[in-house]
Amino acid sequence: MSSPSKRILVTGGAGFLGSHLTEHLLREGHKVYVVDNFWTGRRENLLPLFLRYGDRLTFLREDVRTLSFSRPVDEIYNLACPASPPHYQRDPIATTQTCFLGAMHVLELAEKWGAKVLQASTSEVYGDALQHPQSEGYWGNVNPRGPRSCYDEGKRVAESLFFDFHRRRGARIKVARLFNAYGPQMDPLDGRVVSNFILQALRQEPLTLYGDGTQTRSFCYCQDTIRGLVALMDTPDDFTGPVNLGNPGEFTIRELAEKILALTGSRSPLAHRPLPTDDPRVRRPDISLARMALHWTPAIPLDQGLPPTIQYFKALL
Ligand code: UDP
Repeated sequence: MSSPSKRILVTGGAGFLGSHLTEHLLREGHKVYVVDNFWTGRRENLLPLFLRYGDRLTFLREDVRTLSFSRPVDEIYNLACPASPPHYQRDPIATTQTCFLGAMHVLELAEKWGAKVLQASTSEVYGDALQHPQSEGYWGNVNPRGPRSCYDEGKRVAESLFFDFHRRRGARIKVARLFNAYGPQMDPLDGRVVSNFILQALRQEPLTLYGDGTQTRSFCYCQDTIRGLVALMDTPDDFTGPVNLGNPGEFTIRELAEKILALTGSRSPLAHRPLPTDDPRVRRPDISLARMALHWTPAIPLDQGLPPTIQYFKALL
């Protein structure tokens, strides 16, 4: 248990990563406020935490676009935003608003209380990357008017706002760029590749492979991501990031399908579907900065992270 205990706001705390982070912070003995509007967050992610840590967990159903939360806090983690393409594309205008207005409101709140504020940014700021692996110095290759732009550009403008608040107003900011987190508590309906493939394999349905499956991703187990976020928050004020948090183990989507078929013992065939517009072809984090500044490195490779994730989906079914 770390001491002294802090008052911490987690926006998006009912979501997949938000609820893992909330659990971690409660376990460390802190008082946690969760703000979530249940756009993609889920009650069932928080219920067990209420049972275990009820007195130190406060939930407020609020939208960060119109955030009225104003209690004193020491730290803010801004995770509120749908993160899977089908979700953030369902209402792209709301997605951009959530990124921008959410960032604005948490920055103002942090300023009011002198709190540290961490932005959960994304590898999507690199877009269809022309540099590989991607390091933080790379400015990215993002289509500003495609179907992914609401998220990619939303996250980019949020970073921009964070750095302007830091330069102009001395905000105590931290920016993490997360690469494809996965693990238990993923929303079964979020349409991401890990959840889709596992559910399809368990149901003996065809695995929907978009494109030829040669595009790559680097999947980071949720506990590793959370450790990285907390390590970043704990850095001195002169370290702002942005810092990549991801697992450098890179796999083609076809390899992922094969791994999931092997681990589930499923006989599902592959069903080819068109590659979505602007789907990045490669993605792998350069994590030299996280290693050096946070002494962080992911501990759980894909082969170890998939079995508990499969177990979680099995239990859901
Ligand atoms: N993908 C796929 N089948 C699916 C869902 C996704 O082949 O059922 C592909 C998708 O086109 C992308 C990769 O898997 O190339 C990762 O997709 P996801 O939505 O999980 O994450 P993101 O594209 O945001 O990295």
